[in-house]
Amino acid sequence: MTDYLDQWARFKRLRNAWLVFLVLEMSPFDRWVQPLLHRLLPSVSEAVIGIGPQFLVLVGLAFVGRDLIQWKCPRCVNPFAGGRKTMDSVKTCLDWLLLPKKCISCGLPKYATAPSNEAVAPSSS
Ligand SMILES: [Zn+2]
Repeated sequence: MTDYLDQWARFKRLRNAWLVFLVLEMSPFDRWVQPLLHRLLPSVSEAVIGIGPQFLVLVGLAFVGRDLIQWKCPRCVNPFAGGRKTMDSVKTCLDWLLLPKKCISCGLPKYATAPSNEAVAPSSS
């Protein structure tokens, strides 16, 4: 029997990684990252150090954000928050980061550790 713990742990890792990338992206790179890199990597050009780290953080934000938006419900394997199609209103635009209380496809409660008797997607058979 599955307990979904691995899936929820993976979601939390992705969410935390995205938040770390966000903090890094908003931090003053020119004040602490660039001087540090100049000291650690003196042979790397000014242009690369000037734009490289911030670009890598931006790429991280994009890739991890994509995985969060498409994060699959452990029970029904559909996007838990509905994927991109539900990001059209203010009310649901942050569901991919905070998750709605239930899977929008099958009703599995957020952080449920067992397939409960909550609402389940109608069977197609
Ligand atoms: Zn579901």
